[in-house]
Amino acid sequence: YITDEYLKPYTVFKNNMQDTYVDEMEICSEFEDGIAKREFQVFYQPVVDVKTGKIASAEALVRWFHETKGFISPGQFIPALEKGGYISELDRYMVRKVIECLEQRRKESRPAVPVSVNLSWMDFYDENMLEWIVSGLQCGGKEEEKMIRFEITETSLAAIGENHTRMLMRLRENGAKILLDDFGSGYSSFGMLQDYDFDILKIDISFVRNIGVNKKTESILRAIIDMAHQLGIRLVAEGAETEEQVAFLRENGCDYIQGYYYYKPMPQAEFLQLLEEGK
Ligand code: C2E
Ligand code: MG
Ligand code: MG
Ligand code: MG
Repeated sequence: YITDEYLKPYTVFKNNMQDTYVDEMEICSEFEDGIAKREFQVFYQPVVDVKTGKIASAEALVRWFHETKGFISPGQFIPALEKGGYISELDRYMVRKVIECLEQRRKESRPAVPVSVNLSWMDFYDENMLEWIVSGLQCGGKEEEKMIRFEITETSLAAIGENHTRMLMRLRENGAKILLDDFGSGYSSFGMLQDYDFDILKIDISFVRNIGVNKKTESILRAIIDMAHQLGIRLVAEGAETEEQVAFLRENGCDYIQGYYYYKPMPQAEFLQLLEEGK
């Protein structure tokens, strides 16, 4: 639709377009080089069990430390890599790195927890990628492979054609836990719960931010927690930063918390150190 924004002089519009275009082109054209130069790192953010305060699992989050441009945030390059068709290569890289890490832990008999990797809707159109994971799970199903979990947002799921969502269920049938990410932020949250089976639901950060601010949000949160439990699904609250938010989530029966209140995403070595310390 036409807004005032688009009625501004043509040059403004054109410049905006060009900036994004060039950035995205640059991101895509430098992606493979970045992989080769090991500029991409897996960061881990611990997920804490509300009852015990101990680390129950973690989420793998990609970080790009570009040789000349410095840190580029995932919020910027993930959408660009999706548009350019490179995201599956990145996600495959993440899965491989996480499996490597878990394998090492097993070989050295060191403590480990399950780790979830984010999937893009595009991964479902790259048959090879998910087939590769499923066959890994099927043949033998090594310990470390069973510890890999997958996160998908409801928005992503809505973008996948019916034929391709079968792959998600195949992952689950073969023992991988599936997490519904950013729950409540999309347009079909309840439809997703009705149509698919999930193991864990991740409550979107926008709800958590409103704890202590908006009474309506608090009621919605209680209802989400109750509903998930009735469906036999456990919950992770994303983005808890304050004592008040954590107290509310604990009192209302949320199972796990992932947020700066406990831990920020961190390099692998730091994360493994926490596990060594029995955190
Ligand atoms: P997400 O999967 O919802 O990940 C959670 C995001 O919330 C992460 O942002 C994390 O750093 C941030 N977060 C966690 N706790 C807090 C908190 O207490 N306060 C605040 N303000 N933020 C918190 P990050 O790492 O910037 O990632 C952004 C998004 O990029 C992710 O959202 C995910 O959708 C995507 N992403 C990240 N890594 C990958 C990847 O390897 N593959 C794919 N396909 N997507 C990825
Ligand atoms: Mg996620
Ligand atoms: Mg999320
Ligand atoms: Mg998100």
